[in-house]
Formats: sequence, C-alpha cells, structure tokens
Amino acid sequence: MKALTFRGKEKIQFEEVGDPAILLPTDAIVRVKACAICGSDLHVYHEREKGIDHGTAMGHEFTGEVVDVGKEVRQVRVGQRVMSPFTTSCGQCFFCRLGLTCRCIHSQLFGWVENGHGLHGGQAEYVRGPLADSTLVEIPEGVSSEEALLLGDVLATGYFCAQQADVRPGGAYAVVGCGPVGLMAVVAARELGAEKIFAIDTVSERLEKAREFGAIPIDASVVKPMDLIHDATEGRGAEGTLEAVGSRSAVRLAFELVRPGGIVSSVGVCNDENLAFSPVEAYNKNLTYRIGRCPARFLMDKLVPLVRQQKYDLASIFTHRMKLQDGVHGYSIFAGKKDHCLKVLLEP
Ligand code: NAD
Ligand code: ZN
Repeated sequence: MKALTFRGKEKIQFEEVGDPAILLPTDAIVRVKACAICGSDLHVYHEREKGIDHGTAMGHEFTGEVVDVGKEVRQVRVGQRVMSPFTTSCGQCFFCRLGLTCRCIHSQLFGWVENGHGLHGGQAEYVRGPLADSTLVEIPEGVSSEEALLLGDVLATGYFCAQQADVRPGGAYAVVGCGPVGLMAVVAARELGAEKIFAIDTVSERLEKAREFGAIPIDASVVKPMDLIHDATEGRGAEGTLEAVGSRSAVRLAFELVRPGGIVSSVGVCNDENLAFSPVEAYNKNLTYRIGRCPARFLMDKLVPLVRQQKYDLASIFTHRMKLQDGVHGYSIFAGKKDHCLKVLLEP
C-alpha cells in the first residue's frame, strides 16, 4: 500500500510501504476513507518533536471501513464504517475506567514508531487498529466522515481544553491559538456557557472562523490581548485561558491573561524544557495549571449529540480536500498557513 511517511525535517514522502497485517487477535485492519493533518503532525514535521523513525506512516486522524478483524474481536465487524481516537485504549485498565483513555496502560499513538516499536499512522491506504473493540467506534447515524474525523481528535481536544479550564456560564475566557483545536475550544466554551470568549491569533481567516463560532477575535499582531481582556474584566483577567498552540510564548500569554485564582488549560504540545512561568509567578497568581493529552476515546461518544445538532458548521474548518498522493503539498500549505488553509482532508 501507499502512505505518507516521515523522512526527516519538513520532508514527507508518498511512498510504498508494507501492508498492515493482523498481529494480535484483538486487531482490526481499516481501509482508510479519509484522514487529516493535525497541528501535532507539524511538531514532527518541523522536528520540534524528535524520536520518530524515518519511514513511519504519519497521521492519527482517520476514518474508514473495517476490512479484516482478529479472532478475538467481538464488536467491530468487517464492512463497518468506523472512526478512531488518536490513541488506542483497552477500555479495562484503571485509567480507561477513570475516563483517561489517553493514559491507558496499553495505549499507543497512531503514527508514532520509535526504534522499530509503535504504531503506523492513518495517512495511508490501510491502518492497523489494535484493541479494536475498545478503540474503534462505529460512525453513528447522522455523522459525516468529516465530522467523524473531528470527533477522533480536534473536537474532543477542544472540548477537553474547555472542560479542563472549568468553563462555566457567565465568565470571560480567552482561547490562545485559533488553529483547528483552538476553534473547537471556542465551540466547546460556548456550549459550556461562557459569556465572552476572546480568541487570539494573528491569522485573519482563522480569527474570522473563531468569530463565526461565537468568539470575539483578537489579532495579536494589531492589539495587545491583555488590554482588551482587562477592559472586559475590570482589570482582573480571564476566568480561564485555553491554550491551543504548543509554544512557550503561547503558554506565557495564557498565564498572563488569566486572573488570580483562575485556570490555565493547556492542550498545546510544547516541546520546551521548562514551563513558561516560574513557581513564584504561579504562587503569586494562585494559579491552577492543567495540561495534557485528550482522552479522545472517552469523549468522542459524548460529543456525538453536539455534532448531530448541526448548530455549528464544524466541517467547514476543512478548507482543503485532496488525494492522499497530494499530501506532501497538503503538509506544505497547512504548515505554512498558505492559501487560507485551516485544515486538510486527504482521501486515499
Ligand atoms: P495549528 O498549528 O494549526 O494551530 C496553532 C495556531 O496557533 C495557529 O493558528 C497559529 O497562528 C496560532 N499561534 C501560534 N503562536 C501563537 C501565539 N503566541 N499566540 C496566539 N496564537 C498563536 O494546530 P492545531 O491543529 O490547532 O493544534 C494546536 C495544538 O494542539 C498543537 O500543539 C497540537 O500538537 C496540540 N494538540 C494536542 C492534543 C492533546 O491531546 N492535548 C490533541 C491535538 C492537538
Ligand atoms: Zn491530532
């Protein structure tokens, strides 16, 4: 089969790789119908995140049709249309039972192979889905393939970010970064009742989409976010800040914008050595800092009703659709924020 593979810094290749096979009786094989490029793929692409083997099939956002199952797979069936969270989970361990499926003791991240161990990704014609019964989910009635892709990662992650920030009715919140995850965080914050959501970025079409989803856009290249947020909160700062970038400057901004006693909720993957604020700075703000990987498998079922409501045109963030074989170009425009690109959908 063919896949988009990692071949070094800013080098993705569309190449022939081995077909995935059933390795364990709990595996399924999925023929990919649609896959997407995530901001997390960009950390790998730019080599901010290191360790992945050259030749690894990229990607962790995919949907498709089950074409083969191992002999211990009970619920997932050949022919089923499925969606997938970006990590696998067993559904039975302590962490799965807690709802923290991203920290399942058997969890693997799609699209991460290191020193020969790990799991190839979904930017491919086929993908192996381990722990199929507790990882893959049949795409529910009324959910499109695009929406299923969002459920498996960025919608769940945006929701997780808002939940971690303890968004509740009435307050003013700030979302730092209006990429796909930040935009979904805007939607989630609105659904959780935030009265004012300030959405910060420097890319005009992303800010425009944030406005469409109900936020007050702030172009940080034009105005100081702090000024506007202080004006709106009698100088206190935001109740919570939702950081969806994954850089030191973004975490710093999220820290500065939050009010004393507020919560900074980070879902951005920041590959720095240290936090963007010191212990004493955190102390002086009575800060709560919450960070981590989204338990997408746990949240995706719960978000199906939101998708079905059709209150937001969530799939409109897919500004670009192309064939998997054109994925190298897809990476280039998504990474460069060229051609008004918000998110790329690829079809094998
Ligand atoms: P993206 O790269 O498309 O979006 C990032 C956005 O942040 C861009 O629009 C960029 O212009 C903006 N930005 C950059 N620096 C900024 C700053 N200092 N202030 C304000 N805005 C700034 O990526 P994405 O797909 O939206 O993903 C966002 C982050 O979420 C990434 O770090 C990704 O790895 C992470 N992520 C985490 C999880 C999780 O489980 N925690 C899941 C998915 C993605
Ligand atoms: Zn992702």
